[in-house]
Amino acid sequence: MRATDIADDVRELLLSRDDIQERIAELARDIEADYVDRTPLLVGVLKGAVMVVSDLARELKIPLEMDWMAVSSYGSGTVSSGVVRILKDLDTDLTGRDVLIVEDIIDSGLTLSWLRANLESRGAASVEICTLLRKPSRLKVDVPVRYIGFDVPNEFVVGYGLDYDERYRNLHDVVVLRPHVYGASEDDVAGPVDPARKVL
Ligand code: 5GP
Ligand code: MG
Ligand code: MG
Repeated sequence: MRATDIADDVRELLLSRDDIQERIAELARDIEADYVDRTPLLVGVLKGAVMVVSDLARELKIPLEMDWMAVSSYGSGTVSSGVVRILKDLDTDLTGRDVLIVEDIIDSGLTLSWLRANLESRGAASVEICTLLRKPSRLKVDVPVRYIGFDVPNEFVVGYGLDYDERYRNLHDVVVLRPHVYGASEDDVAGPVDPARKVL
């Protein structure tokens, strides 16, 4: 007998594996054009951005470096407050570096807004942001994002690095889960309530 198949928990496919790979290749061409004669430091925000960094970095044909940060955001219920704590910091000295923050998704924008200011304060020559997904209807702060993969509707999405309760990161596609996964009834279209303290 086969083990439980996570694909059985999918209600709707938002972005297929092919959609994602095609868009990442386009973003890579834009980034290559912008970073001529510069070696960007890709800063992946753990854990959600692992797949984006891994595919984007291999698609880029220019010299680059990679580093990783883990942050946690404290909020009340479903909203992140913008109060961020560093769980794992970079190993790299940012002085004079061209930093490209790579994220999975921008929701309120509060986390990225904080992160951007934090990395700028370390003496980086430039700090830009690349995100695979953005929920435009949820944005609370105006954070300049140079590279955006896709705008998505205001639904809780998982897959391609994005989790629900640490699972579903290994799906190739970006999907919406069936409500029963969250313990809700099949008629309920709302996503899960984030824990007050979430590790992104
Ligand atoms: P914000 O932009 O509100 O500060 O927080 C963004 C973070 O919230 C993302 O990095 C991600 O960890 C989490 N998040 C926001 N929307 C979703 C979603 O639809 N699905 C998942 N899995 N995580 C989300
Ligand atoms: Mg993230
Ligand atoms: Mg998460």
